[in-house]
Amino acid sequence: MATAVPIPPRVAAAVAARAETVVKAYGSGETQVMALDGVSLDIQRGAFTAIMGPSGSGKSTLMHCLAGLDTVTSGRIWIGSTEITGLRDTRLTRLRRDHVGFVFQAFNLLPTLNALENITLPMDIAGRKPDKAWLDRVIATVGLADRLRHRPNELSGGQQQRVAVARALAARPAIIFGDEPTGNLDSRAGAEILGFLRRSVDELGQTIVMVTHDPVAAAYADRVLYLADGRLVDDMYAPTAELVLDRMRRFDVAQFQRKA
Ligand code: ADP
Repeated sequence: MATAVPIPPRVAAAVAARAETVVKAYGSGETQVMALDGVSLDIQRGAFTAIMGPSGSGKSTLMHCLAGLDTVTSGRIWIGSTEITGLRDTRLTRLRRDHVGFVFQAFNLLPTLNALENITLPMDIAGRKPDKAWLDRVIATVGLADRLRHRPNELSGGQQQRVAVARALAARPAIIFGDEPTGNLDSRAGAEILGFLRRSVDELGQTIVMVTHDPVAAAYADRVLYLADGRLVDDMYAPTAELVLDRMRRFDVAQFQRKA
């Protein structure tokens, strides 16, 4: 079993997660799929990073590998200053529980618990007392103060996803991963959630990595990483929806030309 190698402290201060030459292959021989084909990147602390690319380009695989939900075929991954490739399951589970938050497309709330109980559930399970002042701030940031006693089926889709965002923020994780977090919402509710994610970066200093295929969603980020065929093909700072859409179009045309 490999031992965890820390990133040098000066570098680690700015890096929330890092991938170094990560390969993820599914299957073998003729039918092998290289979902990730040598991806290296740093996720900056206190920034909102979007991962974009066409369907099948490896976005979800990259997110799962960065978050320690899936193993890599080769290469190395760090969360904060801890290398997670090679960590034993128990340590990895503890690291994920203590330092990583998730917001998925499906809201994943427990139907029998009210909004507040859902928000504090991960901390209750971990036996941690929520920091009351922080919790109040998170609840105010996502605008849930008057909905805390409602159960999920008494809330709209947008409100349910706000609960899921608050749940991810409440434990003050080092990094939050979102996999198409607005995929199940109409555009107004989606814009609201993206606004909350943006505010949690600007006002609460949260680090967020979001997988999306939507240029409008990506425009809320500070930086957009583009994947194609399991490779990192571009890196854009200060994106706008128009710039992202334009970049996607050029990739689509290039891919079409390669395959034609
Ligand atoms: P994206 O999120 O960009 O749509 P994915 O990361 O889901 O892409 O998939 C990348 C590639 O890996 C695709 O070709 C997909 O078919 C393949 N893939 C993903 N998961 C599996 C799996 N469990 N088994 C086999 N192939 C997989």
